[in-house]
Amino acid sequence: MYEGIIQDLIDEFGRLPGIGPKSAQRITFHIVQSQSADVSRLAELLSHVRERVRFCEVCGNVSEQDRCSICRDARRDQTLICVVEEPKDVVAVERTRQFRGLYHVLGGAISPIDGIGPDDLSITQLMRRLSDVEIKEVIIATDPNLEGEATAMYLSRLLKTVDIPVSRLASGLPVGGDLEFADEVTLGRAFEGRLTL
Ligand SMILES: [Zn+2]
Repeated sequence: MYEGIIQDLIDEFGRLPGIGPKSAQRITFHIVQSQSADVSRLAELLSHVRERVRFCEVCGNVSEQDRCSICRDARRDQTLICVVEEPKDVVAVERTRQFRGLYHVLGGAISPIDGIGPDDLSITQLMRRLSDVEIKEVIIATDPNLEGEATAMYLSRLLKTVDIPVSRLASGLPVGGDLEFADEVTLGRAFEGRLTL
């Protein structure tokens, strides 16, 4: 245990996701030894991020305005919607440069164990969007795990009732991996998405 404020800071960093006690200690001492201008900039960002960032009123992505930069971009294909769980998934899909449509961020995935049902996600907002404008295709890009699968199944059933074409990201085996070590969800999806040679 360190004394006072140093230990307080280590404890705070230690509460962040993915940061263990050793990293928390390393970050704290890095800050203690940093230039005060760098630390001030970090402190400034931390204190403003919560008040400046909100969620896009259309798609639920993080934004500093009422609508996010993707929803404001008229050059994007307005007839395609890619459904993801979290804002970080938007960034992941954007990084591929394969998709030029719009997004819908659900805010999580269906998880009965955690008590998260369809009503806890922005599914009503999605359905409203689909009734407002003509959509050619909805691409479901939820995580390839049990919760993501359950969410994709729920959505695809719901979207079929309104006659909108639905597709899902193909999911495969990790390159360089071993078939015997693949979990059943991955292997099941790899079978489902198999290509004709
Ligand atoms: Zn948006």
